[in-house]
Amino acid sequence: MPCDEAGALRPLQRPAGPEGALLRPVRAGRMTADGGYITPSGQESADEFLGFGRLDWYVTKAWRALHYVRPEDFTAEHRRSMEDDWAVLMPVRLACGRTAAEVRIPGIFTRMSHQRCTGCCRATGLPPGKGSPKNDDECRKLLGLEDHL
Ligand SMILES: [Zn+2]
Repeated sequence: MPCDEAGALRPLQRPAGPEGALLRPVRAGRMTADGGYITPSGQESADEFLGFGRLDWYVTKAWRALHYVRPEDFTAEHRRSMEDDWAVLMPVRLACGRTAAEVRIPGIFTRMSHQRCTGCCRATGLPPGKGSPKNDDECRKLLGLEDHL
């Protein structure tokens, strides 16, 4: 299995400072149980939530399938919820057209085992199947993730 979290841990290239720069932690924050990262600052964590969402998709309260939400369908209020709760705890429109009462980033077991919503697959052009796009070879290709294995 590819180590799909490696990218998140790789230090960023920093232009300043000959030494020390690379030794400093890239970001202050804490690890989630499955290797994700939660940052303390607001905007940054909303962007990061969206970054995870793009590749992991989301689970709704029903926790039955993996759905997608287009970034443009998240409002400023949704972003605040991401920043505060690392989840969107208010109604949000899914790519398949349904409205979910809340969405969360799925944990590793859900990412591996749940079916992708066929409506969301149709809306995004990804093939229907099992697991987060990040964990599906065909989706990885379509998302241009081949280089990050
Ligand atoms: Zn869906």
